[in-house]
Amino acid sequence: MDVEPYSSMEEPLIDPANFFLARVNGKNVLIDAGPSAKPPSSFPLNLKVEAILLTHWHWDHVRGITWAARNARYVCASEETIKSIDPGKASERMALVVRAVFGESEESLTAMKLVVQAMTSFYSDAAKALGQANVYTLNECPIIRKGLVNYVECPGHSHDHVCYVIGDHAFVGDNMVPGSSVTLLDYRKYLDSMVKLLGEKWEVAAVGHRGPFLDKVSASRYIAEIVKGKLERLVFIAALAGKGWVSLFEVFKRVYGGNLSPKGFVAARSLVGYVSLLEELGIVKVDRSGAPWKINVDI
Ligand SMILES: [Zn+2]
Repeated sequence: MDVEPYSSMEEPLIDPANFFLARVNGKNVLIDAGPSAKPPSSFPLNLKVEAILLTHWHWDHVRGITWAARNARYVCASEETIKSIDPGKASERMALVVRAVFGESEESLTAMKLVVQAMTSFYSDAAKALGQANVYTLNECPIIRKGLVNYVECPGHSHDHVCYVIGDHAFVGDNMVPGSSVTLLDYRKYLDSMVKLLGEKWEVAAVGHRGPFLDKVSASRYIAEIVKGKLERLVFIAALAGKGWVSLFEVFKRVYGGNLSPKGFVAARSLVGYVSLLEELGIVKVDRSGAPWKINVDI
């Protein structure tokens, strides 16, 4: 099977985001569409695309449907992904992270407002494009129904993440970023998802950032490193929180240095995920009644 990688870059990304054009039984399928509202110059714009398949709702994978959906017959995504590509819901989710970690101080709200506004506008672009496209959920998706594409639900990085297996390729979205760390919303689900995905038949992983391709052995090594790195971080966070009630912003400062940039926002999103897992494991108590949240290791 032919697979062509494309990538595009947009602020505030740290790495360009990849998306892929695959030729399946004579039909062109696009897996994700990148972060940019314009196609990369190398993309064959007159190409007729049968389907765009979305891995997850994050703007750097879906905003490109603004241009890509014009030449595509239809778009397929999970119900959760379709529901999440909504500027209102996206900004609500982001506001929750901002409140939980940064609280409601003027300084943090002003800094985070810019981050949230920029990303919300990306979701408006994607939602508008989706509104004008022919959209199918995965079970209704014609190319999946024909058996040419398989999908595996793989939540962890995001709640809605789906990986696609086409021929010997697995399109794994943001689950295996070589050379840097994957941000995780849910550590346990990530682990489950990756074990499940590695059990599927494929040889090459097509990844959302860097790469763009990894063989299966390298892919499993990356997953092992990510899991190990996240466990270390978990221990680190619990240790740095110390005893007694401490605000999540204080923990954020101790772990990430209190950076109020877009990168800081991404780190804050991970911190909320870690704290929820620490709570689930019975290691910390979380007080969500105020802003920022407070945690207590001494339970
Ligand atoms: Zn993502």
